[in-house]
Amino acid sequence: MATRFKQVVVVSGKGGTGKTTVLASFAALASNKVMADCDVDASNLHLILDPTLREKGEFMGAKVAVRDPDRCQKVGECEARCRFDAITTESIDVLACEGCGVCVLACPNQALTLQPIVNGEYYLSDTKYGPLAHAKLLPAAESSGRLVTLVRQKAEDVALAEGYSLILIDGSPGIGCTATSAMVDVDLVLVVTEPSLSAIHDMERVVALAGHFSLPVAVIINKADINPENRDTIRSYCTEHDIPVLAELPFDGVVSQAVAARIPVVEFDEGPVTQGLRAAWQQLADWLGQAA
Ligand code: SF4
Repeated sequence: MATRFKQVVVVSGKGGTGKTTVLASFAALASNKVMADCDVDASNLHLILDPTLREKGEFMGAKVAVRDPDRCQKVGECEARCRFDAITTESIDVLACEGCGVCVLACPNQALTLQPIVNGEYYLSDTKYGPLAHAKLLPAAESSGRLVTLVRQKAEDVALAEGYSLILIDGSPGIGCTATSAMVDVDLVLVVTEPSLSAIHDMERVVALAGHFSLPVAVIINKADINPENRDTIRSYCTEHDIPVLAELPFDGVVSQAVAARIPVVEFDEGPVTQGLRAAWQQLADWLGQAA
């Protein structure tokens, strides 16, 4: 049994660069691994990996104001002080409540407290590619680094208990709290970018964030042929920063066909995108010391 696993997070500065397509293909190519979908705002890895639920639980997220009706004298200080129009003497709008606690302090009868509410669910599932830890935020619930941490914890627990040697993490877009939570303590940050100015800018921000945590970075350029000039800009940037480019994948309609069929593209087609992904995975596996 493996006592320690490696972790690779696949990220992009923004959504839509092909991050999940790459992750799903690596899930199909890698052996002995667990997947963690930490893109909790827009999780979609489960759509391709077709999971069977093994375990689920509630995620207790933000705190909101809760009223004790036995104490409430309908004084109205809560309504007068709330800057978010979330509370009246009759009701509390839990979607509008920011949990700031002003009403709790303002109430002369101590009728209000802050209490955590259910913000989402986490799941541990089985797929034909290995276990998958994932989650769902409830509608209007705020994204949360704590939910990302919970998903990663579930993946780590199953990796340790069942002897998996690799965790493949589908990271959150951007450089905010959830993206950071998906990135800390990994062995490699794999950035999937594309040759557009906005994607290049976002890639640079993600690389800077990884640098802040002293994490190794590699890059895959998706749709590399749609703008050769910007592709060359990415190549130059990676050379300057000593970042390996594992693959330059061409634009190919077969990718969206594979997504529509809910099959990792490497199992759907043997064209240039699949060849590029296989070569990228081989390099990654060599670097990680994984069987490929
Ligand atoms: S906790 Fe803050 S936001 Fe929520 S009802 Fe009280 S004052 Fe309004």
